[in-house]
Amino acid sequence: MISFAEVNVICVNSCKIINSIRTVLYRTYSSGFNFVPKSAPVKESDLLKLKAFIENFDRLCVVTGAGISTESGIPDYRSEGVGLYARSDRRPVLYKEFCNSEAVRRRYWARNYVGWPRFSSVRPNTAHKILRLIEDENKVRCIVTQNVDDLHAKAGSRRVIELHGTAFKVMCLDCDERICRYYLQEVLDRLNPDMNVTTSMIRPDGDVDLSQEQVEGFKVPTCENCGGVLKPDIIFFGDNVPRQTVETVKYNVDRSDSLLIIGSTLTTYSGYRIALQANSAGKPIGIINIGKTRADDLAVVKVEGRCGDVLAKVYALIRRDEEKQKRLK
Ligand SMILES: [Zn+2]
Repeated sequence: MISFAEVNVICVNSCKIINSIRTVLYRTYSSGFNFVPKSAPVKESDLLKLKAFIENFDRLCVVTGAGISTESGIPDYRSEGVGLYARSDRRPVLYKEFCNSEAVRRRYWARNYVGWPRFSSVRPNTAHKILRLIEDENKVRCIVTQNVDDLHAKAGSRRVIELHGTAFKVMCLDCDERICRYYLQEVLDRLNPDMNVTTSMIRPDGDVDLSQEQVEGFKVPTCENCGGVLKPDIIFFGDNVPRQTVETVKYNVDRSDSLLIIGSTLTTYSGYRIALQANSAGKPIGIINIGKTRADDLAVVKVEGRCGDVLAKVYALIRRDEEKQKRLK
């Protein structure tokens, strides 16, 4: 006969084992580019065209989307077969729902709290690192990213405009207070000492799945300055990009000499608008993406392939030619 205490020990141990298996599965999963859609091998002629594109311009405006972060193990929303929309029925929270419902906010923050350790520890991949190298060579006017994952900054890029905000800051809906997301995690830890859930799941904004039971009782703090409602500093679906951000992007596109779109289908208008502005000003457009984008018809060069793979090969070609030139001198 097994006692109640022994059953408890067995349950706790089983949970630990299941969590370890999940962690191992996650590592296996994320290291194999499982969130990256399949694509045909990259054509050599396309690589050479992209190389010429990058060499010819000195003030690139780079636009990046979720496709650049899939190689870091963060899935995108829309990719065929591997994106979140293809994998589950879950949709991101809408701005109005978040603002209007305390229950929605509690669920959001509980899930965001559990997903944070995993989400905040994701590292930049080859594509982010090569963009940083190109920026260091003074060829990049700005990087406009649609991602909220901070991976460009983690790779060392400095000229980054976060079009849809950042998951690493938290704002107050009622005053100008902005706090660091790491600080909020400490506050949430203190308020919810019994919340012992870990997850291996990850979404583009750090959201994870939790049961209603796990969400109920989760305590969400208010703004320390005014007692108002806290929201991650990201543009939710149904919300608008702030006018100041739109103007900053316009200003920088104006002063760039070309546009390079990486890992984005430009489905959202805030991204597509940048391609339209560049096109109407006669600035050449290049694209690296697996699958169609809204700007395909506007591009002078389009390369279908993994962002990291394509950029690494093109960068190697540029470097090889530079070395040759040096030797000839
Ligand atoms: Zn406030």
